[in-house]
Amino acid sequence: MSENKDFLRVIVDEDLKKGKYEEVVTRFPPEPNGFPHIGHAKSICINFGIAKDFKGHCNLRMDDTDPTKEDTKYVEALKDAVKWLGFDWGENVYYTSDYFPKLYDYAIKLIKMGKAYVDSLNEEEIREYRGTVTQAGKRSEYANRSIEENLDLFERMKRGEFKDGEHVLRAKIDMSAANMKMRDPLLYRIRHAHHYRAGNEWHVYPMYDFAHCLSDYIEGVTHSICTLEFENNRDIYDWVLDTLELKPPRPYQHEFARLGINYTVMSKRKLLELVQNNYVNDWDDPRMPTIAGYKRRGYTPESIINFCDQIGIAKANSMVDVSQLEFCIRDDLNKKVPRVMCVLDPLKVTIENYEGEEEIDAPYYPHDVPKEGSRVVPFSKVVYIERDDFNENPPKGFYRLTPEQPVRLRHGYIISCKEVIKDDKGNITEIIAQYYPESKSGSDTSGIKVKSAIQWVSETYAKKVELRLYDRLYKNEAPQEVEDLNPNSLKIIKDALIEPAVIEEKKDERFQFERQGYFYADPIDYTDEKPVFNKIVSLKDSWAKKVQPSENKTKKDNKSNQKQEVKKEIIHGEAEPLTKEQETLFLKYTKELKLNNEVSNILARDEKLSSFYEETLKELNSPVTLANIIANDVAKQLKEKTIEELKFTTSEIVELIKMLDEEIISTKIAKQVFEEMSEKGGKPKQIVEDKGLIQISNPEVILPIIEEVIAKNPENLEKFKNGNTKLLGFFVGQVLKATAGKANPKVVNELVEKELNK
Ligand code: ATP
Ligand code: MG
Repeated sequence: MSENKDFLRVIVDEDLKKGKYEEVVTRFPPEPNGFPHIGHAKSICINFGIAKDFKGHCNLRMDDTDPTKEDTKYVEALKDAVKWLGFDWGENVYYTSDYFPKLYDYAIKLIKMGKAYVDSLNEEEIREYRGTVTQAGKRSEYANRSIEENLDLFERMKRGEFKDGEHVLRAKIDMSAANMKMRDPLLYRIRHAHHYRAGNEWHVYPMYDFAHCLSDYIEGVTHSICTLEFENNRDIYDWVLDTLELKPPRPYQHEFARLGINYTVMSKRKLLELVQNNYVNDWDDPRMPTIAGYKRRGYTPESIINFCDQIGIAKANSMVDVSQLEFCIRDDLNKKVPRVMCVLDPLKVTIENYEGEEEIDAPYYPHDVPKEGSRVVPFSKVVYIERDDFNENPPKGFYRLTPEQPVRLRHGYIISCKEVIKDDKGNITEIIAQYYPESKSGSDTSGIKVKSAIQWVSETYAKKVELRLYDRLYKNEAPQEVEDLNPNSLKIIKDALIEPAVIEEKKDERFQFERQGYFYADPIDYTDEKPVFNKIVSLKDSWAKKVQPSENKTKKDNKSNQKQEVKKEIIHGEAEPLTKEQETLFLKYTKELKLNNEVSNILARDEKLSSFYEETLKELNSPVTLANIIANDVAKQLKEKTIEELKFTTSEIVELIKMLDEEIISTKIAKQVFEEMSEKGGKPKQIVEDKGLIQISNPEVILPIIEEVIAKNPENLEKFKNGNTKLLGFFVGQVLKATAGKANPKVVNELVEKELNK
């Protein structure tokens, strides 16, 4: 366990030291109504992780109290996920449904104590009677029923004598409690439905608030860790356990922040919709944020666990950038997997002066990886290279093959272009090239300078493979609806060409296809006849591919000798280790300035970016916001331009971020202003004024828009009133949309919440 304990581990540690419990017992309690997602991975890591750290135990419990949505296939998916992540739940999987008889007995006990009653108000009346945040509720007249009558009715509810909704069992607590959840919460409801496990025996099913605390108690759980939205339920949790006067020790509930990731949705209900409506192939579609999806895509359990460690445990909800997860998988695979060559978009190259064939021995791993092994790469007269590694009219900074510029075939020889052959439409169909016999990699005495090495395959021996290139599932950072899905989230390449050893030797399941990314042999569709690889993640954010070699160029132009030329074979996009100076910067950014790893990595590796960043920091102490815009947006600009060519200055970026920090503009508007600044230049303040982009924070302007949105969506309003509080996000999204992103999201959030609860 690390020295810096999170707040949950601090609590557990103190409880054990105080002797409150002998052993820590946690539980991971999913409802088997869908496949687990990366948010569940966080919960799994916390619950199983704490149990492991304190030498206790973590139960896997299916919280299966809703017969209409649950299924054994989800139980299996949950077990798979926990196992795959490397955790062990011991001998038994627990099921809340196994406790139905015990829970029923506890309910009887509450009735006998006069602490629970059968209510016969309908759903709407129950809601009305509950009151509002500012108004006390009133108790139902049925609360006066005698204990005998309650016992009789409850027994008959169980036997199935009444219709759904005719009666409910409620706790008798306090109809004027400030915590609305404590206003006589429902304990049981009637459901005439088949339960996937308990069969048709039951006609009443316990509510979460009753079942959860008691299941924890029955299992001897000590720390019941859940997400923040259950904060207000904690009072019921305590009330049930205390009122029943159970033999100690009893469990206590502790809450942590839910994980949210951008460019995806994270709720089983929404994910189920994607599956049911065929927007994705299934729950394990590699674009899904499900654990099965990540597994199929080729993520490793280690990378997901590292990610969960990195994001930490906090008490405030936040959105984590998906690039942080991508960083973790890259970081894991970088040192682990063999590197091979695959050509995605082949362009034929005939080497005029080469005859015969030869076998080139090429290492699978770069020298700084402590792994060994090599394969034979066959070389022959006709090879294929990546179409975009040749450019007839190269832009400045193009370091690969051109009519004037030679290039190295990775692990092989240097070639130069002699002739470009085109079809009638002007498309390049073939390159006639020349090779230099003395330039073989490792024994190069040719003295020819190249600026990069590219991947290639031999026509005679290459194998055809299908590649599935995955991108983000949604095009929006905070997607709301299916319209936000990214239409390009899957691209299939049917005829990529790969070197034969990959298929014949099967050194691993995961590979780095040099300069292309990390790939995984699809565990289901891959066959020797038709190999299929899924793209796990690219090597780097695309901007880095271009920036890095130009840096090397400036360094090497100064002193140029034979030895350095060999080193010049920079594989684009390959994650090189950080230099000393870069490492220092990286540490400063992560530790002092509290930037996330991905952003720190981007900034530290690039001198142009880091100096730009440092310059802005002198003017404004807003390290995180500045870093984000510089690592993302400024970086994109610097892909094509030098700092001098930029249309904006560091001071102007500072001015922009100030407006953002002061909430004069929203993030969305900031992006818009930035675009204008980079295309045409101009002072951010002026742009905002000219275009009328100032953020709207005035409630008087926002309220009518909210009212209109609510009026247009009566069904969702109804669902919200019935307890689907997640729809808050929907309404907020609609209002923001209606104002073209100009409304202040914080204000909108507050107002919408108020209006919905009216
Ligand atoms: P969903 O809305 O996706 O169905 P849920 O909270 O209803 O999520 P459960 O199956 O009840 O899902 O969750 C099991 C456990 O996982 C709970 O303890 C829950 O708090 C936790 N959990 C669910 N989603 C997240 C998340 N995004 N981040 C962290 N923990 C989560
Ligand atoms: Mg749920």
